[in-house]
Amino acid sequence: MAEKLTKEQAQEQILALRAQLNVWAEQYYDRDAPTVSDREYDLTYQQLVNLESEFPELITPDSITQRVGGTVEDEFSKVRHEIPMLSMGDIFSKEELIEFDQRVQKAVGKPVDYHVELKIDGLSLALEYRLGKLFRASTRGNGSIGEDVTANARTIADIPQTLPEPLTIEVRGECLMPKAAFAKLNEKREQAGLQVFANPRNAAAGSLRQLDEKVTRERELSTFIYTYVTPPVAAIKTQQEAVHELARLGFTINETSIEASSLDQIFEFIDHYEQERDSLPYGIDGVVIKVNSLQLQEQLGNTVKVPRWEIAYKFAPEVAETVVRDIEWTV
Ligand code: NAD
Repeated sequence: MAEKLTKEQAQEQILALRAQLNVWAEQYYDRDAPTVSDREYDLTYQQLVNLESEFPELITPDSITQRVGGTVEDEFSKVRHEIPMLSMGDIFSKEELIEFDQRVQKAVGKPVDYHVELKIDGLSLALEYRLGKLFRASTRGNGSIGEDVTANARTIADIPQTLPEPLTIEVRGECLMPKAAFAKLNEKREQAGLQVFANPRNAAAGSLRQLDEKVTRERELSTFIYTYVTPPVAAIKTQQEAVHELARLGFTINETSIEASSLDQIFEFIDHYEQERDSLPYGIDGVVIKVNSLQLQEQLGNTVKVPRWEIAYKFAPEVAETVVRDIEWTV
C-alpha cells in the first residue's frame, strides 16, 4: 500500500501537477495546439483533484481545479459574461453516472428527468442579439471574460444574422469544424508546408479565433446551439423546450438529443453513439446529461467551475485505462 504523503510532499506534487496542467492548458486553449492527448490531460487533472481532496487546505483559487481553463488573447476586444460560461464535470464510467444521479436525487429530493445530448467537440460560443439582430459573438475565454469574435461569427453560414422576431436574447452553443472541412483544410495546409491541426476541435478554435475574418469565412465552420441563456421565458420550463425554441428561432440544433426518465435510456444512448461516433459528420467526445427542468437546474446551482445539474460522460479512449476518481462536487 502506498505510504501516506506528508503535507509538504503533497504540496510539492500539487505544485508540479498544476504547473504541468497550466502548460498543457495554455497550449490547448491559447495556441490551439495540444501536445498531449485529452486522456493524458484528464488523468493528470484527476491526480490533482485527488490530492487536493486529500489535502483541502492546499487548495488555492489559482488552481486549475478552481477556475475555467483558457485565457483571453490581448489582440481581441474583451467581452464580460454577465452569466459565467462554465466548464463541466466529467465522468468516465456508468457507475459514476449512477452516483451523479443519486447526488442529484438527494439534492432535489425526488427522481428527475434528463435531457441527453451529444458532447460536440468544438469550442463554446456565446451569441447576443439586440432587437432580433446579431449584436455580438464571444468565446468562453476564462469563463468571466471572453474574446469578441463578432466579425468572425458573421461569416459562419448557419448563424442567423436576424431572428424572425425582434428579440433581445443571448444563446450559447458549440462552434465546430465538420470532419470533411477538417480533412480538406489539413490537406491544403500540408501541401502548403504549414503545420496541420491536431484535431477538428483545435482547427475550429484556430479558425474562429482569427484577427482576419476572411480566414474564418474560408474554414467552413458551423454550430450547434443548445443553451437559451437569457432572458427567462415563462413558457420554457425544460431544456428540451429551450432547444425547440432555439430551433424555431432559426438556430442549428443537434437533432439527436433525447429526454430520458431512466438511467437505462441514457446508457442506451451512450452505447449507441460510442459505437456510431465515427460515422457522424462532426466530432463528439462524449455525451452530456442535463437535468431537464430549468427550475431544478437553478435549484442545484454551480460550483466555482461546473454546474451541478449536468455532467459530461467522456467516451473511452482507444486503449482502456483505469483510474480511481473522486468527483469534485463540494467546492
Ligand atoms: P470540456 O470541453 O470537457 O466540457 C465543457 C464544454 O463542453 C462546454 O464549455 C461546451 O463548450 C462543451 N459542450 C459540447 N457539447 C455540449 C452540450 N451538448 N452541452 C453543453 N456543453 C457542451 O471542458 P473544458 O473545461 O472546456 O475543457 C476540459 C477538457 O479539455 C479536458 O477534460 C480535456 O479533455 C481537454 N483539454 C485537453 C488538453 C490537452 O492538452 N490535450 C488541455 C486542456 C484541456
